[in-house]
Amino acid sequence: ERLYGFNRWGTPYFSVDKEGFVCAHPDADERTVRIDDVIKEAASKGIKAPMVIRFQDLLRNRVQRLNKAFADSIAEENYPARYRGVFPIKVNQLREVIEEIRDAGEAHGYGLEAGSKPELLIAMAMHQDSQGLLICNGYKDEDYIRLALNYRKIGKEIILVAEQLSEVELIIKVSRELRVEPLVGLRAKLGTRGEGKWAMSTGDNAKFGLTSMEMLEAARMLEKADLKESLRLLHFHIGSQVPNIITLKNAVVEATRYYCQLKKMGFPMGSLDVGGGLGIDYDGSRSNYESSTNYSLEEYARDVVYNVKQICAKMKVPCPDLTTESGRAIVAPHSILITEVFERISKRESLLKVRKDEIKDQVVSDLHEMLYGRNKYGALEIYHDALQKKEEADSLFSHGYLDLVGRAQAESLFWQICDRLEKKVYKTRGYQPEELIGLSELLSDQYVCNFSVFQSLLDHWALDQLFPITPIARLNERPSVNAILVDITCDSDGKVSKFIDLEDEKQYLPLHPLKKGDPYFLGIFLVGAYQDIMGDNHNLFGRVNEVHVFLDEDEDDGFYIEDTIKGYRMKDVLEGVQYSAEGLCQNLKRQIDKATKEDIVRPRDGVSFMELYEQQLQTKTYLNITKKKKRRA
Ligand code: PLP
Repeated sequence: ERLYGFNRWGTPYFSVDKEGFVCAHPDADERTVRIDDVIKEAASKGIKAPMVIRFQDLLRNRVQRLNKAFADSIAEENYPARYRGVFPIKVNQLREVIEEIRDAGEAHGYGLEAGSKPELLIAMAMHQDSQGLLICNGYKDEDYIRLALNYRKIGKEIILVAEQLSEVELIIKVSRELRVEPLVGLRAKLGTRGEGKWAMSTGDNAKFGLTSMEMLEAARMLEKADLKESLRLLHFHIGSQVPNIITLKNAVVEATRYYCQLKKMGFPMGSLDVGGGLGIDYDGSRSNYESSTNYSLEEYARDVVYNVKQICAKMKVPCPDLTTESGRAIVAPHSILITEVFERISKRESLLKVRKDEIKDQVVSDLHEMLYGRNKYGALEIYHDALQKKEEADSLFSHGYLDLVGRAQAESLFWQICDRLEKKVYKTRGYQPEELIGLSELLSDQYVCNFSVFQSLLDHWALDQLFPITPIARLNERPSVNAILVDITCDSDGKVSKFIDLEDEKQYLPLHPLKKGDPYFLGIFLVGAYQDIMGDNHNLFGRVNEVHVFLDEDEDDGFYIEDTIKGYRMKDVLEGVQYSAEGLCQNLKRQIDKATKEDIVRPRDGVSFMELYEQQLQTKTYLNITKKKKRRA
């Protein structure tokens, strides 16, 4: 449990039980669900890994926790206004996710945020009778604005946040045409620089928001159009996953100044929207590294409330209602990606035992001497010598002076030398040169996992975002294999070779040896934000299976799977790139018929090939791993 850092990144939602199984606690309390049981239950419904497990109760818990944190801070600070959070749909658009968040937030007046026209269509329909806000961000055309203002016309509290001056113009035009008084917000381009992987969302070169000059102009335009009463909100978004609380505090202070200035200019205002950015401590280090946060959700809430109150008091302006657009912090923890390891590629296991009397080449003999002879040199020097000999052997092979056996002997000896050096380094305390530390990575096995990094873990591939990864069972067994993970795409980038720092920043994952007949599942945690929708169809693998898990009210540690969403079949992804199943079948059939006519294949074999092709079109894109169970004696 400690090895994988559960107590650091997993608390209070994930832990390991006495039998070594990973458990989820979706309500952050004592209720426990073994992930392995969910996998089995899903299998009984015909749903296999790779799959996403969503814990709906965990989503609910996150919404409640955010709202409670703000309610508590407001009470503690005697803050004289309300908290009115919204969930940004872009972070996870799935209907079941939005429904759960909306229902959980109902009691708190928690609303929705849309960043595009399709998201606005979702937001308006899903908002229902919510008392929450509906905030419209993103670039807007006339249709976007017309949709939103029609919603305003039916009495809804929908706020159009202008990202640029041309949008203010459009809002004025369309609201005149529809004869409706709009609610308008302005997005500030703050001077405070963001921090982390998404830092470019603010600052002078950000693509969003109004500069101070544009803000003045926007205010003037509204006033001139007789819409002074419409300006109700000031918004900023400093970028997602802000690792350092100081950055957030500075941004809140700067934005509150903007807010107060507008209020003092006589605009009604009333709301300050501090955007997203509230991060997740993916690596459990509680630091300001990019995949971590040096603050908690509760500290964030206290800081927003405190800083806004302080600045408003100084500026003698009434405190605004507070809005956050936290997405990642709400949804990241609720889903786990499960993948099955089905192959181990090991350098160590395929090594040859090289006997001295079998050696024909000098370079092999030199490596043999390095491994078995007396050696008075230090580890680093031995490594350099061995590396030089290995490169020499590679070059001799390329030029035709070393045969295949010689090359295999040289490689085997080289890896055995590395293996020995690595063990020595492992036992030695204190400083070690970088090249020797890197040996562990060089010698790591590759565990081949049935999933696609491009589909399910895009931020890892694109931005080196780290996610906690652990086996789902056998955690009471000491792992003895160091491995990196490779996926099934035909792309060497399709791998995970950076992990949250477990021990001494080693870039491999300690795992268990695979056992014949026993499936070995890995869980990739905290993947509920952004990953689902941003994934792409590289190699046409497409969407994975999904199960939605609910805690069973009637049973202590019971759960049930309410919904399953089937991953893509081959037919589905092929249709996405313009192939009709029918057309493909016809094309193949023509070729088989020709081969049959020319007596290349027997008609019966041709027919069964055609049947296989048609049947495969209906099956899943990922590998169909069928483990043969060990026979009992
Ligand atoms: N609001 C806006 C305008 C955004 O662009 C984003 C995402 O980057 C968010 C909210 C959500 O941010 P986060 O997921 O960091 O909470």
